[in-house]
Amino acid sequence: MTEYDVIAVGLGPAAASAANYTAMGGCKTLLIGEAAGALYRAGKIANYYAAGETSGKELFERGLDQARALGAEVVYGQVVEIAANGEDFTVKPASEEYRAKAVLLATGAARSRPKVEGLDAFDGKGVSWCAVCDGFFYRKKKVGVYGAGEYAASEAKYLSGIGCEVTLFTDGRETAFGGVPVRAEKIAKLYGGETLEGVQLAGGEKVPLSAMFVAEGVASSADFAKMIGIETAGNAVKVNEKCETNVPGLYAAGDCTGGLLQVAKAVSDGAIAGVQICRYLKNK
Ligand SMILES: Cc1cc2nc3c(=O)[nH]c(=O)nc-3n(C[C@H](O)[C@H](O)[C@H](O)COP(=O)(O)OP(=O)(O)OC[C@H]3O[C@@H](n4cnc5c(N)ncnc54)[C@H](O)[C@@H]3O)c2cc1C
Repeated sequence: MTEYDVIAVGLGPAAASAANYTAMGGCKTLLIGEAAGALYRAGKIANYYAAGETSGKELFERGLDQARALGAEVVYGQVVEIAANGEDFTVKPASEEYRAKAVLLATGAARSRPKVEGLDAFDGKGVSWCAVCDGFFYRKKKVGVYGAGEYAASEAKYLSGIGCEVTLFTDGRETAFGGVPVRAEKIAKLYGGETLEGVQLAGGEKVPLSAMFVAEGVASSADFAKMIGIETAGNAVKVNEKCETNVPGLYAAGDCTGGLLQVAKAVSDGAIAGVQICRYLKNK
């Protein structure tokens, strides 16, 4: 397992900007994330200071090149879990594990909610967004995981590991992940009374479930926040003016903290977080 002073989760402007400051401040810095996100998707950016008119993808690549040139390491991968161990943090992509004394959450805006009938009605009444937080209550019970990617596979593995009887529901999509039973049919709705009782598939079959864990797409900073017990405000990670969360050593920056969803704010947040992380590590 490789150890770093700081790991920034995400490769966008918030993470890359923070890495400039931590790397220049002498901290061993890792950026880990996917070539995706809001900046990567933005076709044209014309309002960022001194950048003229450029594509989001070009700005994204230039940001990473600059962080690398200043000494940060960049690893491509999807992070599925972050754990706080007291003294430090573990950051886990699917097949690796990294440790760091400080972590910056910079994964951009939170994932969208899948459009499934009943998801809102049973939210908190059987529908959960965090296996680590709620899985315990459903040990030895039949539960579903909604999703088809690495994050869903990781949540399913965790729930199986604590004794839940897990089925992965991909809602009409193929999945490369196994290890638990998979139902690939489209979902018609979630059903129940006061609480969730199961899922009805498009063909009419009803599959009884005590809980459905939603793990659609890629885990967001808000998902990581729930895993670790960080305060959130809706889908935004709560931070103070130093980009600190309520967990020492854990910072958040950019779109994942809400407010102005613009490159300039993400870069500013990243700079603030980078400087504060250097101070935190020096005082530790
Ligand atoms: C179409 C579009 C046009 C835009 N136009 C403008 C504009 O003209 N001007 C402007 O200022 N702003 C614009 N924006 C907004 C701007 O792109 C964002 O505010 C900015 O990119 C936020 O930076 P960020 O670093 O917080 O997040 P992002 O740029 O979203 O970067 C997040 C990073 O985290 C990674 N990530 C997420 N989850 C995980 C995970 N589980 N594991 C690993 N990595 C993960 C992503 O892959 C990505 O690398 C636009 C956005 C879009 C979508």
